[in-house]
Amino acid sequence: MLYVACEGESTEPDYLQYLNEQFGDGDDRGRQPFRIQPVCRRYGLTPSEVVEAAHRKAAGEDEAWALFDRDQWEDIPQAVKTAAEVGIELAFSHPSFDLWLLLHFQPFGGAQGGSTKLVIEKLRQAKGADAFKNYDKKSDKSIKGPRRDALKGREGNAVAHARSLVASCPHGACKPAHAKTEPIDRDAEPQSSQEWAARSGHAPNCPVLQRDPSTDVWRLLVALGIHTDGN
Ligand SMILES: [Zn+2]
Repeated sequence: MLYVACEGESTEPDYLQYLNEQFGDGDDRGRQPFRIQPVCRRYGLTPSEVVEAAHRKAAGEDEAWALFDRDQWEDIPQAVKTAAEVGIELAFSHPSFDLWLLLHFQPFGGAQGGSTKLVIEKLRQAKGADAFKNYDKKSDKSIKGPRRDALKGREGNAVAHARSLVASCPHGACKPAHAKTEPIDRDAEPQSSQEWAARSGHAPNCPVLQRDPSTDVWRLLVALGIHTDGN
């Protein structure tokens, strides 16, 4: 059981539910079963509130992740600091979680300055992503039915594309092979914000808000054993 807190009202909870249904039973090649308990609010949470929600649910015992994106950035440094203090894993996306969906279908690069518009346009047009043609039209950002089907079997591509964004980070010293995906040692000393945010593979002195574009969601899939990281 792990808790994953998020700020979105449909995309992220739908996606987490998809992971449960598609991969949660484990497999006969030794992958362990898991159960994600999404902790999401209908009207959204700030990144700090996401971290606090994950922390409350996990109560220092279960594994917990905080999923948030660049939208409400004022709060992000505080969210990272709290996460480091209480040992909540971060899955940050810049500019948005939509980038993670897009990476299932194609690579993507180039700074977006926090705007998710181009990412969504690319997703609507991506090869194999017909089900996303109307994504975010009439406020429909759900991931159900045909959209789930379109993601199936493409998680390896998404992980590879997300890792390559770490390698091509403009900072220059960021390496996907430096990412940490093993369970957190709850008895260890709390880490600094910089060390904690470096679990993504970005260098400790690569500012979170300048990881543009990037998404750490791939680490969640590796941590769950859904995908091996290719190291
Ligand atoms: Zn970086």
